[in-house]
Amino acid sequence: MASKLMNTYGRLPVAFDHGQGVWLWDKNGTKYLDALGGIAVNSVGHAHPRLVKAISDQASKLIHCSNYFQIGMQEEVAEKLVEHSGLNAVFFCNSGLEANECAFKIARLYGHDKGIEVPHIIVMKHAFHGRSIATLSATGNPAVRKGFAPYTEGFIHVDENNVEIVKELAKERKDIVAIMVEPILGEGGVIPLEVSVMQELRAICDENDWLFMCDEIQTGMGRTGKWFAHQWAEIKPDIMTLAKGLGGGVPVGAVVVSEKANILKPGNHGTTFGGNPLAMRAALETIKIMEDEKLPENAAKVGKKLKKDLSKSLNGFSGVLEIRGKGLMLGIVLDRDAHDILEPALKAGLTLSVTAGNVVRIVPPLIMNEAEADELVKRITPVIRSFLAQPKV
Ligand SMILES: *Cc1c(COP(=O)(O)O)cnc(C)c1O
Repeated sequence: MASKLMNTYGRLPVAFDHGQGVWLWDKNGTKYLDALGGIAVNSVGHAHPRLVKAISDQASKLIHCSNYFQIGMQEEVAEKLVEHSGLNAVFFCNSGLEANECAFKIARLYGHDKGIEVPHIIVMKHAFHGRSIATLSATGNPAVRKGFAPYTEGFIHVDENNVEIVKELAKERKDIVAIMVEPILGEGGVIPLEVSVMQELRAICDENDWLFMCDEIQTGMGRTGKWFAHQWAEIKPDIMTLAKGLGGGVPVGAVVVSEKANILKPGNHGTTFGGNPLAMRAALETIKIMEDEKLPENAAKVGKKLKKDLSKSLNGFSGVLEIRGKGLMLGIVLDRDAHDILEPALKAGLTLSVTAGNVVRIVPPLIMNEAEADELVKRITPVIRSFLAQPKV
């Protein structure tokens, strides 16, 4: 029978029934090690007892009211995000692209407030910022953009890790108001921005009164071994966007701003669902679990070991070009398109994803322990070996 779903996803032939920690079970009872974590979402693992209890309790009290009313838990989650980031204020939405849309609106308003009529934002060529009209316009990847012109104006795409070109732009143009970067480009192929580049971009923003915006939707919330990936460069952005891991699997997005970027006024922006009690309870409990179980530290420790062990285990595989990334956000760069590795990986009891065509991405729950990391290496090594043994297509 023809599916009644729109044909938007190339889905793999497995349906999961339940999970526990870093493990998933399908409908037939087969067990999988989850090295994908719902695409960097299930930060505290599956069915964490504290998160289950918090969400169930909240559902029995109040799932949703409206931002017409006081929602005290928004204050509590905002306190936590401000505490861990050193920034100033938070707006809650429901997803990553929504957070970026809000960031773009703030940047434009910032420009208009100083008389720039057509403000422009610098973005990276291999960035991924979402799939709405504005966020796909900010995204470099032709596969995301194709078929959806006309694009939103106001974005300038530049090469990653090229500070010179940004300096040139600063000299030439007076209509730039902000830069947006992913500290590690996720969908672009797990490409880290160099620490020095992050620092130089921050400095250029200061010199030119531009906002420095970090899309930490994938890299944030402990993923790379610090609460937020920009902290590796010991700088602060003016705007940071969050989503994926923030609610432990419940949809939540957030825009966290410095005092300078805290300029939205009543009527400028809003959302029906954003920051509702169920989402806030999930985010609050997720953050508390991350604090109590020291998950950013765990991601740093286990990620470091995993990267080292993968390098050892895959050493001498001529089709493996590089293993890169930080914490529990790693990419194994192959010399060919890697999509056909996903089904054999499933057969070996392992969920993975592939980004940028040839990068096998590992973004497991942040609760992963060292024994589970060993198991990951044990499962992935033969899968990569036999994949690379096939003729290149
Ligand atoms: C996933 C992602 C987005 C989009 O988030 P959605 O919730 O899918 O809209 C934006 N930016 C980055 C860096 C992402 O990884």
